[in-house]
Amino acid sequence: MSKPPVTKNDHVHVTFEDLTHDGAGVAKIDGYPVFVKQALPGETGQVKIIHTKKNFGFGKLMELEQASPERVEPPCPVYHRCGGCQLQHLSYEGQLDAKKKQVADAFERIGGLENVTIHDTLGMKDPWRYRNKSQIPVGQGDEQLVTGFFAERSNTIVDTEECLIQHPDADRIMQVVKTKAAELGIRAYDSERHRGTLRHVVIRHSKTTDQVMVVLVTKQDQLPNKKHLVDAIREAVPNTVSIMQNVNPKRTNVIFGDKTTTVWGQDTIYDEIDGIRFAISARSFYQVNPVQTYVLYKQALAYAGLTGSETVIDAYCGIGTISLFLAAQAKHVYGVEVVPEAVDDAKKNAKLNDITNASFYVGEAESVIPWWKAQGMQADVIVVDPPRKGCDEALLHAMLQMQPEKIVYVSCNPATLARDLKHLTDGGYRLHEAQPVDMFPQTTHVECVSQIVLKND
Ligand code: SAH
Repeated sequence: MSKPPVTKNDHVHVTFEDLTHDGAGVAKIDGYPVFVKQALPGETGQVKIIHTKKNFGFGKLMELEQASPERVEPPCPVYHRCGGCQLQHLSYEGQLDAKKKQVADAFERIGGLENVTIHDTLGMKDPWRYRNKSQIPVGQGDEQLVTGFFAERSNTIVDTEECLIQHPDADRIMQVVKTKAAELGIRAYDSERHRGTLRHVVIRHSKTTDQVMVVLVTKQDQLPNKKHLVDAIREAVPNTVSIMQNVNPKRTNVIFGDKTTTVWGQDTIYDEIDGIRFAISARSFYQVNPVQTYVLYKQALAYAGLTGSETVIDAYCGIGTISLFLAAQAKHVYGVEVVPEAVDDAKKNAKLNDITNASFYVGEAESVIPWWKAQGMQADVIVVDPPRKGCDEALLHAMLQMQPEKIVYVSCNPATLARDLKHLTDGGYRLHEAQPVDMFPQTTHVECVSQIVLKND
């Protein structure tokens, strides 16, 4: 077994060749990869080795010698401390190229798929201030509370005045909660001692209606001077229409607990995608970048290639967003989703829009779809939009059994997408093309829609 060519505390001069999926530069020392944060492909510099493992190591950039032409000054003052964004030091064009390359690399290395058409990443005109949801952890400072985001791989909160990828209303609410809560005697939750009250503030904003929802996540039911906090939030952000409380008594880093109550106003806010109205409640999954959601869904619709006569399955349908978007051009859309509240929302959303050719079912896609097949259902198109871990193998198997003409795969993780594509292409399908869409500018997250068609030979 060969030893790594470097050891801890060595200083080495390197050239960076690549970027990892979490945004670190990769340099090779005699073929041994070393990962270095804040370094970009094409750059050279002095690196101090901080940790070595058998097959790879980590280093710290001590001095940058040759900077990449794609390097830019990150506009956020806490960028180097906060773990929220990873690519602010890379030009936006560079980010879009890196995301396309990530998809291509995963397709090749994991999926064994070469020479496929991957289009250039569809980016935003203005890649800032795009998030419609902020989940802000709260900590206790000396005099007032601390609000911001976690440092990378840590539970230390980086105190933040404004976040350049969230809506300005979220900044205002973050500030008012920080100052008012301290005045009102509300203590932040302390995760180590499992004491205190306020754990997170979750803020949702609707781009089309400008409505704001604030969810105060607390350890216990009691929230001292709740009414005063509500008044302060409403005064700071008058378009707030909903203030909710969610109680999470557990020792966990999962944000929400099971109990949600309305403190003031409505219990949902409304948003629209291409004229379709959606009611969004405190805990619903809803895409976070409204501008790009439309781009993504339009691409999914184009890949579905509907004419009005198709039966469509939307697996992993959430609150029915893609299903309702497709329904206008399909005969019928069947949505399946594992979270019962989301299915309730999906049904309400269908009613809200007078859409009668979409129905929604609670269950695991991998169990419900084989059952539908046994009942004689034949889908022409199946859309899947799974969480990061990708599709369950049983679902891939069920799709191969049902043999829809087309599968539209919306993915937020190129690695599991590539794995699943291999399964489908081995099972009689062909990957026609893939379109990365930048849903999360300034971060390394990659979203990609693929069109997979049944081979007719
Ligand atoms: N297509 C929706 C939601 C995508 S997020 C949108 O664009 O808004 C993925 C969804 O899959 C979540 O709502 C999650 O609850 C659901 N999910 C996770 N595992 C599932 C499974 N095994 N079967 C069905 N749905 C599942």
